[in-house]
Amino acid sequence: MWKIPLSDLSFGPEEAEAARQVVASGWLTMGERTAQFERELGEALGTPRVLAVTNCTAALHLAYTALSVGPGDEVICPSLTFVATANAALLCGASVVLADIVGDDDLSVDPADIVRKITPRTRAIAVVHYAGYPCDMDAICAIAAERGLAVVEDAAHAPLASYRGRALGTLGDVGCLSFFSNKNLAVGEGGAVIARDDALHARMRLLRAHGMTTLTLDRHKGHAFTYDVVDAGMNYRIDEIRSAIGLVQLGRLAAGNARRRALAARYHERLAGARGIGLPYRDFYARGLGESAHHLMPVLLPEGTSREAVMEAMKARGVQTSVHYTPIHRFSHHGASDRVRKEGLSRTDAIAGRELTLPLHPRMADADVDAVCEALAASLR
Ligand SMILES: *Cc1c(COP(=O)(O)O)cnc(C)c1O
Repeated sequence: MWKIPLSDLSFGPEEAEAARQVVASGWLTMGERTAQFERELGEALGTPRVLAVTNCTAALHLAYTALSVGPGDEVICPSLTFVATANAALLCGASVVLADIVGDDDLSVDPADIVRKITPRTRAIAVVHYAGYPCDMDAICAIAAERGLAVVEDAAHAPLASYRGRALGTLGDVGCLSFFSNKNLAVGEGGAVIARDDALHARMRLLRAHGMTTLTLDRHKGHAFTYDVVDAGMNYRIDEIRSAIGLVQLGRLAAGNARRRALAARYHERLAGARGIGLPYRDFYARGLGESAHHLMPVLLPEGTSREAVMEAMKARGVQTSVHYTPIHRFSHHGASDRVRKEGLSRTDAIAGRELTLPLHPRMADADVDAVCEALAASLR
């Protein structure tokens, strides 16, 4: 249907073969592939403490639960994110305090606004590496360390992205990754949690599987025949089919991210002269802070433009676009909830109606970028 879709899978016959082998093996969940997926993810990210889970929403819920975030606590999180970042904290019974972005050039959460929104009830700061670009982690980690707050990194956009030489997701207390179909590493539904220390890692491992002390595989192998339950946990396990696909996808990730970077650079070059169009993160690489995973290609439309009309006009040319995101405080539940604080979000509000996400995925040709830019220019006339 789309000439140029917003995102596309980078799947080959290897993913199908990996899935087939699991089905043929007769062992479907929490086996050797999952252990290998966790090991190889950890090697790629520079940490031994990775757990693969059902999805990133489960990862966030595990993170907040393992950090003992609960009723009476406040979690500061950006309003400009996917709603799961906030919902997982709300599901723990905590309140969410929404924070503003830095500005038009940086759609990530503003450390100064985090400081303004800290209260005696604040327990954790959740940050999102928007579009794959790192937040100001030096500032955020310093704020958290000074006040004894936990940091949860929602790194759903940012697998293999880095900040000052370290992988995103490994800088806070817990990092969360998504392997949803449209993410840089896709398995359908999947995710991972990365723990700063062994205690959090052990707690999340327990909470991932009912709080049970032994694993299915160990019982199957005869290593254990009974178990105790030492915490009230969930079932957030991933299955072997997804882990096997994930292993193949992990092998494609670095090259995919590099291709995304080249395509994003071409977009920036082409759109630099376009009147009124804002290009967030335009100067990111000039600052030498690290590497983006380039999950999304966000632009800001000229003020006063009808985004809906632009999206329609681009659709007519076969170009799929999207919006990231409707800010959380605009949703009916969160707008009405007295467990969601939403003051001081003027910079988020200023760009919320202007942000447009252009197609970006490793299978795009350079000519596709040019075609999208032409469609955008024509749609703005
Ligand atoms: C996709 C996404 C999630 C949720 O991931 P799932 O794996 O679909 O649960 C959370 N946060 C952000 C920023 C995302 O983009």
